[in-house]
Amino acid sequence: MNIFTSMAEHDYEQLHFSQDGKTGLRAIIAIHDTTLGPALGGTRMWPYDGEREAVTDVLRLARGMTYKAAVAGLPLGGGKGVIIGDPAWDKSDGMLKSYGKFIDSLGGRYITAEDVGTSQRDMDIIRLETTHVTGYDPGQGGNGDPSPFTARGVYYGIKAAVKKFMGTESLKGLQVAVQGTGSVGLNLCRLLDREGALLRVTDINAGALQRTAGELGAVPVSPGEIYDLDCDIFAPCALGAVINDHTVSRLKCGIVAGAANNVLAEERHGEELHRRGIKYMPDYVINACGLINVAGEYLQYQGSDVEKKIAQIYDTALEVIAISEREGVPAYRAADMLAEARLGRTGPVPSPRGVQKVG
Ligand code: NAD
Repeated sequence: MNIFTSMAEHDYEQLHFSQDGKTGLRAIIAIHDTTLGPALGGTRMWPYDGEREAVTDVLRLARGMTYKAAVAGLPLGGGKGVIIGDPAWDKSDGMLKSYGKFIDSLGGRYITAEDVGTSQRDMDIIRLETTHVTGYDPGQGGNGDPSPFTARGVYYGIKAAVKKFMGTESLKGLQVAVQGTGSVGLNLCRLLDREGALLRVTDINAGALQRTAGELGAVPVSPGEIYDLDCDIFAPCALGAVINDHTVSRLKCGIVAGAANNVLAEERHGEELHRRGIKYMPDYVINACGLINVAGEYLQYQGSDVEKKIAQIYDTALEVIAISEREGVPAYRAADMLAEARLGRTGPVPSPRGVQKVG
């Protein structure tokens, strides 16, 4: 792998490696862009199929964070960390402490948070070695689980799309299909249900599905069925890349708006939604409230500042729709254009999206 060529392709600032034979740590931190502030992004622990795959993933994810922070109007840049290993078998407190020292050695240019394969408890351990960490124990002043915040942002994104494309402020009687009733999905369903939306839900985890169906009276459907439902809104809140060659032609919804990162398997699927007249609310625009929550913790925002930023998702979503209409581009591209403008980048920078490896 030609690392400098990969970094130059999307103008990455730094790529850091750390290994610790004593604890088995093999970690990489990518800092994409600190134009707007220090780079904040979670740490993913995953049993990567080799170093090349880990480097590719950390670069892609770091760049996505730059765009997400810029569109959310945060004074932060984009970065990401990956630890190579199976979180179920390879993780130890010693390894996390060693990783904390690695983060600390970067002097605050990178700030971490939890991601796939890491947890709030892991952040508590990392915090023993560095202050550049968010999402730790609320008992210690952390903001804890970001999912309810993320759900609220997605809800605002849905409201903005419904207002713009359906001409109504109310979700009453609208048919919403929710894929994934985990932490974000369940919280989103509660918000939608409160407004009288009619919910059909799916999850591969029978317990999660039953909990949502039981609590809210949502209609459960099979995982395969969710793409074929005639509905107003499809809300993917499970995995990435679910809008792909196999699903895009099956969708019968008016709007796609959900929490899952990298919903489009490839950019061309965003073009296809646009061509078919399905309105897409770009994932990183409306799922940014988890980031806003941890950023607020690090930047010591007051609760009211965090609330203001969360509510802003509604206006940002409308702004993205306006750019899309004005420029005649699909919504995913309009979001990228907004981010690039805020970063002061000129020229056609391609989207930070790629085929998603994990959810
Ligand atoms: P979660 O693990 O709590 O929930 C995901 C749910 O999706 C699980 O219940 C899982 O069983 C289900 N699922 C997995 N594959 C499925 C499939 N093929 N069909 C139906 N259901 C399936 O995760 P979460 O925290 O709720 O996050 C959901 C999505 O939102 C993820 O893609 C995540 O990356 C993204 N996201 C989450 C946050 C956050 O604050 N948690 C922030 C930004 C983005």
